[in-house]
Amino acid sequence: MNRDYPGNIDAIGSEWTNYPNQPPPPPYHDILEPRSLASGVDPAEAVHLTAPAGYEYMGAPLQPPSYDEAILSEPRQENQMRFPTITDDDVRDALLRYIDHDACCWGRAAAVEMSINDIQTNSAFHYTLETFAESRTTSWVFEPYFGQEIESVDGYTPPAPWDINVQPTDTFKDGRTFLEVPHTATVKNCNKCRGSGRTTCVTCRGVTLQPCTFCSGSGHTSKYEASGGVVSGSCICGSCAGTGRRSCLPCSGVGTQPCKICKAKGRLKVYVKLTIRWKVHKDDHVVDGTSVIPNDLIRHVQGDTSFQEEKQRVSPIVSFPDINVNNASRQLVEKHRTSFPMEKILKQRHKIRIVPITTVQSHWSREDFNYYVIGFEKQIYAPEYPLRNCGMCAIL
Ligand SMILES: [Zn+2]
Ligand SMILES: [Zn+2]
Ligand SMILES: [Zn+2]
Repeated sequence: MNRDYPGNIDAIGSEWTNYPNQPPPPPYHDILEPRSLASGVDPAEAVHLTAPAGYEYMGAPLQPPSYDEAILSEPRQENQMRFPTITDDDVRDALLRYIDHDACCWGRAAAVEMSINDIQTNSAFHYTLETFAESRTTSWVFEPYFGQEIESVDGYTPPAPWDINVQPTDTFKDGRTFLEVPHTATVKNCNKCRGSGRTTCVTCRGVTLQPCTFCSGSGHTSKYEASGGVVSGSCICGSCAGTGRRSCLPCSGVGTQPCKICKAKGRLKVYVKLTIRWKVHKDDHVVDGTSVIPNDLIRHVQGDTSFQEEKQRVSPIVSFPDINVNNASRQLVEKHRTSFPMEKILKQRHKIRIVPITTVQSHWSREDFNYYVIGFEKQIYAPEYPLRNCGMCAIL
């Protein structure tokens, strides 16, 4: 509602003590809170802007310069690890330890009494490739102009976005930084307030008055008895002296407020902001001869790093003894070569971990079952263990 109110009444709460039994009005901020002028304002709409050469694609990721292929050399290879022998006692102890600590509702009897028919130790391979890449985007931004020094635009060409030298603080760690592109800043009149530094009050829309919250704009309040009961009739509202209107609080009855876009300065510094993001792209592949053990288990147990390499660009491993590792390396290196066209690859690293896996063939109570001892910490995977269910697990 936008109406003209006569006069300027400023009597908020002044008669408060005359109406002891009346409920207090709601707090001012509940009804007078002005809408934020800053919200939803696009800086590019605040002023008229012309993008400098090379900065026509604001907001979108910028195509990085093409990469000069690194000299690809065959990575250094190391021999497959040889693991220490594992005995019957070792695999039985590992299973009992697992039951006691990680599967306490399993029965111990089978692990104690089982006969061990055969033990075979093999290796699983865990190949990991990480690509550390950078992307750049530009955008117009603005800030109130307080008279700070501005780099001249005239006669200068801003450096191209990818020519600005910024180094990541950490490698192989996600991160982000921003900077002002040199020679893109100008000072403009604020469009929101047209350079005046003040905007129309959003609460009273410039009319300087608001409905009285005490009498809801009626100018009258109910009469009350000393006991608090309402009696018939009404009396003139003491807050607004019966006018139903009072001075607008947010603008102090002036009708305007300081411009929130330019912080009342009337002018804005507008410039191109360069946003640089660093991201680690990680892929891995597990080669497990048993085809039974969950890959996640192999990923997280201790193994031996048989090979690792860090370069600007790595080349696929081709001569590892297990061809599945070579294939995985080739596929993932190729995937990373093509998957991030809008990012510049800064560094890559890859490694092969070898994880010992012992397959134990056991027999207990006329039943054969296999289980697996994995990694240097001898993690157990035993989906066929005969005494897995105590009867309580299903309930829990
Ligand atoms: Zn106002
Ligand atoms: Zn009133
Ligand atoms: Zn302004």
